[in-house]
Amino acid sequence: MSSLKPTLIDFSLRSYSETLRSYRDHGYAVTSFDGFFENEQPKHLILRHDIDNSIEQALRVARVDAEAGCTSSFFLRVHARGYNLLSLQSLDIIREMEELGHEVGLHLEGGICEVVGSDNHDWAERQRAVFEAAVGRPLTGFSLHEPARMGGIEFADEIRERWSENVRYHAYEDRFMMPSMKYLSDSSGRWREGHFGEWVDRVPQLQVLTHPFWWFEKVPAENY
Ligand SMILES: [Zn+2]
Repeated sequence: MSSLKPTLIDFSLRSYSETLRSYRDHGYAVTSFDGFFENEQPKHLILRHDIDNSIEQALRVARVDAEAGCTSSFFLRVHARGYNLLSLQSLDIIREMEELGHEVGLHLEGGICEVVGSDNHDWAERQRAVFEAAVGRPLTGFSLHEPARMGGIEFADEIRERWSENVRYHAYEDRFMMPSMKYLSDSSGRWREGHFGEWVDRVPQLQVLTHPFWWFEKVPAENY
């Protein structure tokens, strides 16, 4: 059944959606981190989206994911110039994402302190407070934005430990990376190891990171 393979391997949303369907047709669960914790499957794709600057593009992908029968995890920033987490528009988008069954977490970042003082720990607390104000519940998971800026994975492990009362994971933990599971990312608009559509049935479990900014319906100029 070659029709089960995605026919398009590019950054169109059609290729993206076909790829999700292909994983599902090949017996993979495609879910958020939450969905993985609740019901881990032998064939499982954890679908993650880091939302660096546009929450509208995130919503577009949230709808595509839901239409393909998938859930996913969206990590949102509080320092983005492109969106304000507490604007009515963002609150409404967060509500729709959660209604579609997706998970919303914090895209945690460092470096702010280099300009305005204090340190990354303090700014992590402040980001968490703003995030929780927006979603109206405790934070349960986060992903690092530009990990190198924040002292890398050790820093994330440390924060996770400090926040362990409610936070049950961060996205770069060993258990979600190689060799535990395959990790594929579209960072900088480039799949270093091939489009994720080329990985169907090559590994049983994987984490796929996408940035909705790179994905378009007809032409990339839709996004910038
Ligand atoms: Zn990021």
